Order: sequence, then C-alpha cells, then structure tokens
Amino acid sequence: MLKCDLCPKEYATKTDLEAHRNMHLNIRPFKCPKCPMAFTRADVLRKHKLYKHEGVKCPSSRPRKKQKVVETSDSE
Ligand SMILES: [Zn+2]
Ligand SMILES: [Zn+2]
Repeated sequence: MLKCDLCPKEYATKTDLEAHRNMHLNIRPFKCPKCPMAFTRADVLRKHKLYKHEGVKCPSSRPRKKQKVVETSDSE
C-alpha cells in the first residue's frame, strides 16, 4: 500500500494516491472543455462530461423506485 504523506490514508495504486494528493494540494489537472469545472481525476471528468454535457443520465441520481423483492419461499 502507498501511504499519503499528508494524512493517514493509504492507496493501492500510485494513480489513486496521486489523485488523492492533488486533492490536498487543490490541484485539478483535468479541466472540462465545456465549462469552468476541473477535476482531480480523469474518470471523474469523463463522468462529468457524460452526465452534464452529453445528456447521459447519472445512475445515482435517478428517481428512487421501490423495487419489490420477490421472496421465494422454498420450504423443504
Ligand atoms: Zn492524504
Ligand atoms: Zn463541464
């Protein structure tokens, strides 16, 4: 594990640790070309572009639907 030198967090990969350290240093290298927002990670920027600019629906912000759990009662 790679430990952050600014806090006790540990990360498995250098990419994750660097993205985390960018957050400490307030460095956001991944800038959105379509709005003034910037991000610490490339994957976060990609999701932002998809959801904000390409009309893709964010899976976490869809209206909550109660899904009935079908219980199978196998009494053997
Ligand atoms: Zn840290
Ligand atoms: Zn944007």
